[in-house]
Amino acid sequence: MPIRLLAPEVASQIAAGEVIERPASVVKELLENSLDAGARSITITIEEAGKKLIEVADDGSGIPSNELELAVSRHATSKLVRSDELFSISTLGFRGEALASIGSVSRMTATSRVQNEPEGARLRVEGGIAARPAKVGTTVGMTVRVEDLFYNVPARLKFLKSDTTERRATDTMVTRYALAYPEKRFKLSDGKNVVLQTPGDGDRRAILASLYGVDVARQMLEVVAEEEGLRLSGFISPTSLTRSNRREITFFINGRWVHDVSLNSALLQAYHTLLMVGRYPLTALFLEIPAPDVDVNVHPAKAEVRFRNQDKIFSFVQRSVRKALLAYSPVPNVAPSLWGTTRTLPPEQPHHTGLDWKIGHDEELFGSSSSEAPSSAQDIVSAAANPQLPITNTAPSTSTHSASIPLLRLVGQIGATYLVAEGPDGLYLVDQHAAHERILFEKLMAQHARKNIPSQALLTPAVVTLPPPSANILISQLHVLEHFGFDVEEFGPNTFQVRAMPALFMGSDPSAALRALVEDFEEDESPLQNEIEARLAARVCKRMAVKAGQALSNEEQRALLIDLEACDSPRTCPHGRPTMIHLSVDMLERQFGRRGAR
Ligand code: ADP
Ligand code: MG
Repeated sequence: MPIRLLAPEVASQIAAGEVIERPASVVKELLENSLDAGARSITITIEEAGKKLIEVADDGSGIPSNELELAVSRHATSKLVRSDELFSISTLGFRGEALASIGSVSRMTATSRVQNEPEGARLRVEGGIAARPAKVGTTVGMTVRVEDLFYNVPARLKFLKSDTTERRATDTMVTRYALAYPEKRFKLSDGKNVVLQTPGDGDRRAILASLYGVDVARQMLEVVAEEEGLRLSGFISPTSLTRSNRREITFFINGRWVHDVSLNSALLQAYHTLLMVGRYPLTALFLEIPAPDVDVNVHPAKAEVRFRNQDKIFSFVQRSVRKALLAYSPVPNVAPSLWGTTRTLPPEQPHHTGLDWKIGHDEELFGSSSSEAPSSAQDIVSAAANPQLPITNTAPSTSTHSASIPLLRLVGQIGATYLVAEGPDGLYLVDQHAAHERILFEKLMAQHARKNIPSQALLTPAVVTLPPPSANILISQLHVLEHFGFDVEEFGPNTFQVRAMPALFMGSDPSAALRALVEDFEEDESPLQNEIEARLAARVCKRMAVKAGQALSNEEQRALLIDLEACDSPRTCPHGRPTMIHLSVDMLERQFGRRGAR
């Protein structure tokens, strides 16, 4: 084939592919435009996860009628003139590509008016072809209506994830910007319901509360640090408040949301040794860097940046977050290491000894770690089918790998975390949390198999507020909950009432159970399939099980052992981790030199 220049529509579709990947990218670009235009109030409407409609209306400066046509063409911008200005950019946009890109992959209508013109103009662009602008009466500001996104790029459409996932992405994007710009009013609705609304009074903690609920917002720690022209502000979660994924880690640089691996790892380093493996903090952090020190022009969607002095920024973020964390969460001095497990700690932080301990009994607000969760129900099944005898690696395993455990005699509880028991063949250390998890799981699955999970009404229903994306998912899954013995009702915007829960869990915190379930729904694209139910059950049971650090009465300890003995797979928790360590008589004798140590 001879070499030819691409037809302009083809070229612009290719270019659009870099900027507009999914509905959330449209939302991001339009929000950034509204913010650049000085809008004080931005209203976003999404229908069918953004595939049918995305509309962003603002009260910003607007575009003069005679410039509207130019605004939607490629490389048309009012924000940048000379290339050296790229390093002093104070606007979010500068590439002049967003409107053109969106217009080339959708049916877009832009309506705008500026203050000193009596009328505004409207322009429709379909698949990159602009009609003639028409005069219309409208308020000052700009409204961009994007219909039938990717109608002319069916391949793109196929790459979109489920509506739930796409919707979560747009919700999250709006949420992030609402947090970053608390002095602006944001309103996100799906045509019927308002999903998020912020008052624009500058109060970030109030926005956090509307996202995560009042409890979580109250716990979030404020960070304010300044150093040599760098400034970090925002909120981080205390070590007791974690999630199983990085989704709630948010960074803004100079008012722009970015995804930066080095910032993420600076943050996680600040939490180093303070969080359990597989747990991540929630953060909304806003970093300000002098414009010349950051290159924002390295990514088509401007989601990545490059720093002139990356080490300096990394260490500033790491130190600032660490300082805030330590200032707020004094480290208790507990838990000398048991059974000679020496933990090597960084020498500069000797006072952190035993911190894991503290974490062990912190209430987790969100569900269990996904990294611990088996990737499928199959894993649970196989873990149950071949329970590995969890023997410490120094001990020769007692040859019979039978699933059941012998009758145990309770000796006591240590560190409010482990039960000590004696069996015919040595000493057993039982992890009370893992064991209880196993017990609850087997009971719940048995009830589930009988299609009868007894449910019990709560005397006082628990009210739970969830971030809008989670609330949406929950609404779509309420029937699954019912199936699991929960009675949950919508109780207001993003708020739910738990009226009943499985009798098995009575006495535990119903809102924690609900959050565990929601987190499970969030992890999965299609949580409805039957085989997922085991995983769901495993997750709730983990949440409902007694925690490490919880002192148990003698009766409770004994009941736990008896229930564990009755389990089909008593040696592992539903996630496949050991519930117990066995120190065999043989091994004890070796360790104490009673028997021929070679
Ligand atoms: P960029 O933001 O990179 O300049 P865009 O394609 O997003 O490129 O927008 C092109 C131009 O249209 C902007 O430079 C701005 O002048 C104008 N514009 C876009 N959106 C708005 C808006 N909401 N209000 C006012 N002007 C806008
Ligand atoms: Mg723009």
